[in-house]
Amino acid sequence: MILEFNRLLKEKKISSKELTKKYLNAIKNVDDELNSYVTVEEEFALNSADVVDEKIKNNEEISPLEGIPFTLKDNISTKGIKTTCCSKILENYLPIYDAFVWERLKENNAILLGKANMDEFAMGSTCETSYFKGAKNPHNTKCVAGGSSGGVTAAVGAGIAAYGLGSDTGGSIRQPSSFCGVVGLKPTYGAVSRFGLIAFASSLDQVGPIATSAQDAALVYDEIALKDNKDTTSTGLKEKTFPHLNDEISGVKIGIAKEFFSYVDEEVKAKVDEAIKTYEKLGAKIVEISLPSLDFSLVVYYIIASAEASSNLGRYDGIRYGIRANSYGSIHEMICKTRSEGFGREVKRRILLGTYVLSSGFYDAYYKKANLVRGKIMREFKDAFKSCDVILTPTSPTTAFEAGYSKKDPVLNYMADICTVPVNIAGIPAISFPCGISGSNLPIGVQLIGPHFSEAKLLNMANIFEKETNRCYFKKVLKGVYPDEI
Ligand code: GLN
Repeated sequence: MILEFNRLLKEKKISSKELTKKYLNAIKNVDDELNSYVTVEEEFALNSADVVDEKIKNNEEISPLEGIPFTLKDNISTKGIKTTCCSKILENYLPIYDAFVWERLKENNAILLGKANMDEFAMGSTCETSYFKGAKNPHNTKCVAGGSSGGVTAAVGAGIAAYGLGSDTGGSIRQPSSFCGVVGLKPTYGAVSRFGLIAFASSLDQVGPIATSAQDAALVYDEIALKDNKDTTSTGLKEKTFPHLNDEISGVKIGIAKEFFSYVDEEVKAKVDEAIKTYEKLGAKIVEISLPSLDFSLVVYYIIASAEASSNLGRYDGIRYGIRANSYGSIHEMICKTRSEGFGREVKRRILLGTYVLSSGFYDAYYKKANLVRGKIMREFKDAFKSCDVILTPTSPTTAFEAGYSKKDPVLNYMADICTVPVNIAGIPAISFPCGISGSNLPIGVQLIGPHFSEAKLLNMANIFEKETNRCYFKKVLKGVYPDEI
């Protein structure tokens, strides 16, 4: 879609301002029910569009992302624009600097429509831990969008943002992408700078694109996967992914590990099996692999992520950022009250859990052991990639659950990540893209996992699959802007 919009802009069939207005109107029409945006920046978006239109008027070259409206998850810092992490504690926080990824898109004159809803501090799988009302699923608003990047995936799936950026610590780009029928890429750890991404678990967090197609995801990814000196873990990606989108995939070896299918719904499994058959038809070879330590991934993830979160979230103390309790006696009471009032239940649960596993006496039993198992999981992936090029799994064991259901059954939240967390633990890349629709009309996602820095291969495999299956999952809600309408 991005390249088609780009062509329409260049051919002056539509202006960036017209396109932006259509998106803003569509947000007004559908987002009351969907709640995918927590901040809409109408004036900012229209002014940014003017800059692009001026360039087009003067017959200047424009890059693919220029003039095209998109959204950012609300944990990506935007200078002067509210960045709340959907937490009360940062309700009115205005960052004083831009995240690296936003800087990159800004340089490209991409049009930021607003900031998207998310689980509070990216902790959750439904978007329902958001301090604001959670985002709903564009395919059925009685269901959740997934999480934690549920606002971005709902907006992209509903057609009210051309694409977006989310963050993924244990599945937060991929799981909601699978629930909302869009494409989500979790990059190799280090490929994208985390500068300005509000930290949840620093050894796991990555920013990545969420789009309606693999091609769009590649275009966006190539702009953000660059080395940044402000993040010491940043490496960037050596080669662009876009030129590889149509590479031949016949002969590619796809690994299937039964461990990934243990808790999966029959309906999801059936569609994932169909995806495997499609790849076989395209000439891929299926090989059986085994990742025996996978069963420990969820435990390892929740120990490591909570430990890092408990440390990262120490900075919200009523002194440096965000809100401060109104009445208090001592400084100790001020910090205590600010944190008690400012954080939601899930965030508190993780801070407590994290503090516990790091405390002396329990450190060796939990945190240290989790890190040892982390090493084992990494080695198992490394070994697996000796016999296959990519690993195919379901993205999530189920389709989107009913809104409110996860509160009744909290385990459901954690189980939703079972196929995605191993990827973050190993620091490798993975992509989720739609592979079918369930009987109740909800999208089903398939995940491809690759070795470090194999993003080009993953996007290539997803792109070829999309072309073969040729199905559109996002809602075309704007009128008169899609290339086939003009
Ligand atoms: N759902 C997972 C969690 O709650 C993953 C979140 C994420 O990737 N940010 O921790």
